[in-house]
Amino acid sequence: MMKPIVEYRRAYCWRCDEVMEVRAPWPHWQKVKIGWFTTIAVMMLVFPILSSDFCVAIPSMMAIIIAGSPIFRYASEKPTCCTCSAVIDPKRHAVTGAREKQNSNV
Ligand SMILES: [Zn+2]
Repeated sequence: MMKPIVEYRRAYCWRCDEVMEVRAPWPHWQKVKIGWFTTIAVMMLVFPILSSDFCVAIPSMMAIIIAGSPIFRYASEKPTCCTCSAVIDPKRHAVTGAREKQNSNV
């Protein structure tokens, strides 16, 4: 069974000032991006051989090059809070109590 492309976990949200449910992108998009760069480098090395095949190799190269755009977009996605949609820094730990919650009614 395939794993979902989005993961839900709990993390500290700076806007809600609480530990909330966070919608995080699939964590392996950076590896996919490195794999795409490796594929492009290999394609450039064997380009004289690939360019002689108009039927399969050139359309495949074009498809791989075009696939870079969504891979880059997914790799640059940041985790967001499910409640307020604020971008969450995963390296920032929950340190509630460092600043008091503001009460607007007082
Ligand atoms: Zn939030």
